[in-house]
Amino acid sequence: MDHRAAIHSLADTQPKVFWSDRQDAPPPAPRLTGHDDAGLVIVGGGFTGLWAAIQAKEEDPRRDVVLLEARTIGFGASGRNGGFVDASLTHGLHNGVRHFGSEIGTLHRLGLQNLGNIADTLRRYDVGAEWDSRGMLYVATEPYQVSEMRAQAELLNAYGETAQVLDAAQTRAELSSPTYRGGCLRETGKATVNPVLLAWGLRRIAESLGTRIYEHSPVRRLEADRAFITALTPYGSVRAARAIVGTSAYPAPLRAIRRYVAPVYDYVLVTEPLSAAQLSSLAWARRMPVADSGNQFHYYRLTADNRILWGGYDAIYYFGGDVGAHRDERAASFATLASHFFATFPQLEGIRFTHQWGGAIDTCTRFCATFGTAMDGKAAYAVGYTGLGVAATRFGARVALDLVDGARTQRTQLKLVRSKATPFPPEPIRWAAIQVTRRALARSDRRDGRRGPWLSLLDRLRVGFDS
Ligand SMILES: Cc1cc2nc3c(=O)[nH]c(=O)nc-3n(C[C@H](O)[C@H](O)[C@H](O)COP(=O)(O)OP(=O)(O)OC[C@H]3O[C@@H](n4cnc5c(N)ncnc54)[C@H](O)[C@@H]3O)c2cc1C
Repeated sequence: MDHRAAIHSLADTQPKVFWSDRQDAPPPAPRLTGHDDAGLVIVGGGFTGLWAAIQAKEEDPRRDVVLLEARTIGFGASGRNGGFVDASLTHGLHNGVRHFGSEIGTLHRLGLQNLGNIADTLRRYDVGAEWDSRGMLYVATEPYQVSEMRAQAELLNAYGETAQVLDAAQTRAELSSPTYRGGCLRETGKATVNPVLLAWGLRRIAESLGTRIYEHSPVRRLEADRAFITALTPYGSVRAARAIVGTSAYPAPLRAIRRYVAPVYDYVLVTEPLSAAQLSSLAWARRMPVADSGNQFHYYRLTADNRILWGGYDAIYYFGGDVGAHRDERAASFATLASHFFATFPQLEGIRFTHQWGGAIDTCTRFCATFGTAMDGKAAYAVGYTGLGVAATRFGARVALDLVDGARTQRTQLKLVRSKATPFPPEPIRWAAIQVTRRALARSDRRDGRRGPWLSLLDRLRVGFDS
């Protein structure tokens, strides 16, 4: 199917996040109007903020916790992502080895533990959220990716994972696409979830533990005096002994954060539910979620009602780090995604997309979270998960709690926590550098993965751009 024909599949697409397009949303939380006092104020109601509230209250039920969310719980990346859950705290083992060397064994173990703790929390509080630990299929669509995949599988297996390399026929037996040249099946450290049900479930847990949540309460400023931090919202304020900021790709009320994070937009399509015939044409019996392997990669999976969620590839940075509802739509990215979808699954010709949206990823030059404190240690932050934060945010929130409490733990001694990501340069150099890097990544994908001088330089400096 050519590009133009693929565009017809977008004729009825609604500009809505599929996950939150449902009737059973929890009742809205109030706006903050007036003054509140707390022991801990949390800024941001995504997974980072929610996990910070839950872990703080579980650790000390007497701790008085308030969470302030600019829009609604799960409004940001947490409610817009693909719902791929990965145990890695370092955006993959390979990236972890590159940045944290000998510490990676510990980080790998802590990541698996963190994933187990998430599943355990959901069980304890009876949050279903369509959690499913069936693993993940990585596919190679170019011959050079097959050998890269073998090397990655070896590394994973050396750390006790079960990564099984598949040839083209075995890969197509998992999911039928003429584009597959090989694959790697990973059955450990992976899950899928419905991210909005997860965010709503975490909200319910946090509230049941006594957290006071305010929605539509953007923190305009954080002010500190000797003993307290005050978070100022349009109609009120919260004075607290400590603050945690989990604002991800959005302009943070702590300026110190902004240089570490570049908001990068990822775009996503969801199809109508597949008919039984369409499903059987895919031979997707084990329903493994999938990612392909270029620098610019797609991720895709089935939803509970048998739609295909199909996202990624373009990762768009807007000048000045612009974010907002006006960036949720990008026709060129949706058209590219539709075209690639039918190249991957020509047997689905005629299927329609029903939902399209975009979301900002908090990209960081080392591709995994960076942590820090501000305001004489009374505030802490965890940001920069770079497209792999569904699970890592729980760990990030735990670290932020350690930091804000001045606790010396195994976590705070990690190089991951003690070292900072290399900051992005200021504008306009930031924009120019990201564009040059994006072009170099696309070129590398066209040239059998050869890195070229610009990417090789970035590799040597151990910085990069990913989603
Ligand atoms: C399209 C897309 C696909 C992705 N796919 C995956 C995936 O499949 N797997 C994976 O692991 N990761 C994925 N990610 C990344 C993952 O979603 C994030 O890493 C994770 O959700 C980050 O959580 P967070 O709480 O730090 O940030 P967010 O969820 O963005 O939460 C930040 C919150 O802070 C609020 N806020 C901002 N400023 C203020 C303020 N001043 N006052 C009060 N509140 C404020 C925002 O409204 C927002 O709700 C994806 C991201 C996107 C955008």
